[in-house]
Amino acid sequence: MTPAPPRLVPVFDLDGTLLDSDMALVDAFVACGIPAESVTFGHVLADECARLGIAVDHYLDAYDAASAQPFPGVVDLVASLERWGVCSNKAGRSGRAELERCGWSPDVALFAEAFGGGPKRVGPVLDALGVAASEAVFVGDTAHDRACARDAGCAFVLAGWNPRASAGPGDRVARHPRDVLDALGRTTGPPLAAPSHELGRRRPSR
Ligand SMILES: [Mg+2]
Repeated sequence: MTPAPPRLVPVFDLDGTLLDSDMALVDAFVACGIPAESVTFGHVLADECARLGIAVDHYLDAYDAASAQPFPGVVDLVASLERWGVCSNKAGRSGRAELERCGWSPDVALFAEAFGGGPKRVGPVLDALGVAASEAVFVGDTAHDRACARDAGCAFVLAGWNPRASAGPGDRVARHPRDVLDALGRTTGPPLAAPSHELGRRRPSR
């Protein structure tokens, strides 16, 4: 009998991965007087605010934590998880509000403040979960997320259900949130999509 595959523990980026938050992020910057087309994604909030010349508190006051909705299929995915974590550059104030609004209780959730003002790191999340890098998968939507997984030494899965996500060479791409379960070795469902560069299309500028 073939032994069951190991069950890996998923750690997720939040914005653009679990939450379809691009519009909420952009709206907050626009409310601060920044043109929508100037906004980029996947950065430390303080860095992006500095780049755009606004105060972080001004941005956070303008951010509507009730606006972003989970991507289709994410609610079912999260409900099926036994242990999971969140690793996000989002400010803890808005990140925790989003988790609470969605009714999500990850075993570990680290936000920007946990990383001392620098970019997020998956390693501290794994440490807090008590899992080795070889036992974890980081799921994210940006090149920064891919680098975070590489730096932590864990597998990376691209959240290909976000049409903004752009696959890199060799990326494992989940086209639907349920595909993440395959990456965890938990189901025998359809295989993950082959690496594809077709996911690099961008949404129109808003
Ligand atoms: Mg993201």
